[in-house]
Amino acid sequence: MKFLIFSDVHSNENEKLFSYLDENIIDLVIITGDITNFGPIEFVNSFIGKILEYDVDVVAIPGNCDPEGVCEAITEASALCLHNQIVGYGDTVLFGYGGSNETPFDTPGEVTDEQLEEDLLTLLSGYECSDEPKVNILVTHAPPFETNADLIEGGVHVGSKGVLKAIQEFKPDINVCGHIHEAKSVDLIGETKILNPGMLENDGAILIDIEDGNHFTSEIIQL
Ligand SMILES: [Zn+2]
Ligand SMILES: [Zn+2]
Repeated sequence: MKFLIFSDVHSNENEKLFSYLDENIIDLVIITGDITNFGPIEFVNSFIGKILEYDVDVVAIPGNCDPEGVCEAITEASALCLHNQIVGYGDTVLFGYGGSNETPFDTPGEVTDEQLEEDLLTLLSGYECSDEPKVNILVTHAPPFETNADLIEGGVHVGSKGVLKAIQEFKPDINVCGHIHEAKSVDLIGETKILNPGMLENDGAILIDIEDGNHFTSEIIQL
């Protein structure tokens, strides 16, 4: 089972994405936020509609640059809004949280890092472990603090301490994130692999190949 994950579309489609979906068999597409650039909300429906033509399922979360109502738009487009939700998919369990910790730009989808931490820990603590082995994937827009995934120019880390705490406590197998466009990277927190694919317009994406609940690979690819 193959998952293709990308982030930070900012209302810019990328033809390479559609070519990739045409040439490769993907089961699930995950969009990790900033689907629009502060709108228009109609873009969500048309973009997800185009992706669904490739016979894939789509799961998405809002980013801090998405306006209110994006979760509803994702659902109306026949995809699943994973914000503050836990969903089983094949041999995986997906845990989602959209938006970001505070930025200097006062964007619509921000919450305080304390709030983000509280919400995320509440969500994760509500999960009852399955007896069967599952690959646990934490899907966030905000990258965890002090990793390669949250590094901006000048060597400053601007990620979420709440996401970091959630990873340290719950130790998911994988965290896919976005938000920091220039921080396309792979990193590790303990045994949790952290992947930020950068902006979709720069052709980065993440490919997760699930063999079963115990065996999987994850990597950043160029579309
Ligand atoms: Zn963005
Ligand atoms: Zn963002």
